[in-house]
Amino acid sequence: MFKINRQHIQISLVLGCLGLLTNLYPIPLFGNVQLILGNIVIVISAILLGPWFALLTAVLCATGLFIAWGSWHVFILFGLEAIWLGYARRKDIYALYADIGYWLVIGMPLFYLYILLFSKQPESHISFITLKQGVNGLIYAALGSLIVTLFSSLWHLEGKVKDQKRRTFNAQLTYSFTLVLTISLLASTLIFNHQVIEKQQVRLQQSLQDSAAHLGLATEVFIDTHKKAIDNASRWLSLSQADFHRWQNRLAKLHQSYPGFITMLVTDADARIIAASPLSRLKPDDGKLENLSVKDRHYFQEAFFNQITYVSPVFLGRGFGNDPIVAVSAPIYQSENADQPVGVIEGSLNLKKFVDIDRVSTLHHHQQSMIIIDENSRVIYASEELEIPPLSQFTRTESGKRYKTNLDMLNLHDIENPNPEFVYATYTLNNGWQLYVVKPFSPLLKTLETQYLTTFAILILSLIITIILTRVISQRLTTPLSVLANKFAEKGYQDASDYSIDQESPREFLTLFQSLRQSKQQLISHQLELEEKVAIRTFELEKVNKKLQSLAERDELTGLYNRRYAEEKFRATQEFCHRIDEAMALAILDIDNFKDINDTYGHQGGDECLRVIASKMKRFFKRDTDVIARYGGEEFLLILPLCNVLMIEEHLNEFRRTIRQLQIDNPQGNTSMAVTVSIGAIVSNASYSDALETWFKEADLNLYKAKNQGRDRVIVSIPEPQRPG
Ligand code: GH3
Ligand code: MG
Ligand code: MG
Repeated sequence: MFKINRQHIQISLVLGCLGLLTNLYPIPLFGNVQLILGNIVIVISAILLGPWFALLTAVLCATGLFIAWGSWHVFILFGLEAIWLGYARRKDIYALYADIGYWLVIGMPLFYLYILLFSKQPESHISFITLKQGVNGLIYAALGSLIVTLFSSLWHLEGKVKDQKRRTFNAQLTYSFTLVLTISLLASTLIFNHQVIEKQQVRLQQSLQDSAAHLGLATEVFIDTHKKAIDNASRWLSLSQADFHRWQNRLAKLHQSYPGFITMLVTDADARIIAASPLSRLKPDDGKLENLSVKDRHYFQEAFFNQITYVSPVFLGRGFGNDPIVAVSAPIYQSENADQPVGVIEGSLNLKKFVDIDRVSTLHHHQQSMIIIDENSRVIYASEELEIPPLSQFTRTESGKRYKTNLDMLNLHDIENPNPEFVYATYTLNNGWQLYVVKPFSPLLKTLETQYLTTFAILILSLIITIILTRVISQRLTTPLSVLANKFAEKGYQDASDYSIDQESPREFLTLFQSLRQSKQQLISHQLELEEKVAIRTFELEKVNKKLQSLAERDELTGLYNRRYAEEKFRATQEFCHRIDEAMALAILDIDNFKDINDTYGHQGGDECLRVIASKMKRFFKRDTDVIARYGGEEFLLILPLCNVLMIEEHLNEFRRTIRQLQIDNPQGNTSMAVTVSIGAIVSNASYSDALETWFKEADLNLYKAKNQGRDRVIVSIPEPQRPG
């Protein structure tokens, strides 16, 4: 049954919580692009604990991201990643390689689809953030693997996932290099890009602010110049004391000096137009200039009744066409010191003149547009490409709040969209108007994306190159090493001098190789020497063993078997005969009056007798199965299996006679010794008894009888086998 390891659950939960906390605060890169590092723990969990514990960790990590981003795709994306990495681990695939595979095959396509279907991201941005997600995966996979490698001694877990097969040095070296290079390259790429982008943004904001200030000043100058012109004209007209009727001419001349006015006019105290320039634009309803009254216009009222030089808000002109205009007006007096004005001079500012200012700025700043709004938030001027009609209410929202940037951003068209349309700067004019300089955000984003893409491309290229390079280098290292390892691991006594080493291998290997070769040669000769020694020792040992055995079994004086051996042998012999239902004989042979021999010829003489009789016995009872033993002193035991019951007595007698006829040379003199023997024997079917004592007792009894009956004789009894029960 599947047994859940509690320690593994605890570890995956702790790792998961760590990931959750880290993922609550993703690291902003630029725009809405963020780097997530909490997922490192998913990789660690997958490497140590396998797919299902990694999934547990991933769910927690994704929860952190879900809280930060509010989108559910993270559960699917990172849950799948965890399982993928876990299974790859079981198949001995390194986490970094596995993760690259995951993002290429599943992660990035899935993420792309999700963004395309469920998010409001601009389409141009999708492929970039998808790629970023993949690179992000690469970063935390590399970091996770590195952490596991660096702190391998920390993870003493029971039942943690282990490599199925031992990895080659080459693979290990390549992977370690790849890890370190991936991390350092990615880190430097990110830091470099971050700094460049930061600088670009500061520069952009500065340039926008400069533009705004410049354009604002230009606008202010434009308005002030024309205000001053009207002011001066009113004073000039007041001083000139001229006839009203000659003003038409003067106004036309004045207008020529100030082409910034689209139209100019002079009214009398009743607000009737008495001069206008250009006359061609003036289209009174009834065709008569005198009947055209501007009494209801603010510019007339403010200048005439309040006696100020007035700059109106923007309004739609009447009479002089329907353009939006700003009127600048001032009162005219009869004389310099008069209290009551006699009329008003007015000039309508040509708002289209802002185009000139705008155009100059656009020349210097690509894609930059401007908007001027009055104090009532109505659009006075907007660059053409913005398609904002003049006099419309100015609507804007601050946007891109979740974007990591120092730039101020706003939306003018798609007010609801959280993705910013423009970067902007403002300038407040001295008349309360506001000038916006805006620059579309998406090309900016595109530039940043291009920058990231370029660096990522360089990164991947350098990664590929380093992987190849590392492989080559590590092969240089490992090939001779594995040759060495394989060669010297071979068994047998091949001549070590056959081994050679590649010319290109490093010098250290040559040294190692040479010393190993020398060692192997020494080892081989040592081994040969040793084997020779062992052979000699074995031979000697066998010899000693044989001697020992014979010492244990044989009697030293006669070379016959001893009593212990005979007793042992009896059991086997009796069993064997019993099995085949055969008869056997047991005989005890005792030398007669042996004490006298000893007394007469000395102990050495006695010993000689024993030796001679023993050798005679060996020759006489010559069957392999016969057991002849010296039982003790001058007593011998004969065990004769498979014997003929009727013949045995005669056979023993024949031996007795052989001994009696013997003349034994005394080793201590020229005399010879003669001896006789008495034999007590028993012949019976082997089933008679399996106890040596029974047989022995009977034979001993017969020997006793033989001695009593005068010695030099054989007495054999043939008892019937004892019936059991
Ligand atoms: P009997 O005919 O009744 O057998 O008389 P015996 O003298 O042979 O019998 P006894 O058992 O009295 O004496 C045996 C003698 O054998 C006693 C001992 O000194 C002698 N003997 C026992 N072993 C050895 C031996 O290894 N070498 C010599 N030289 N004599 C031995
Ligand atoms: Mg005796
Ligand atoms: Mg005796």
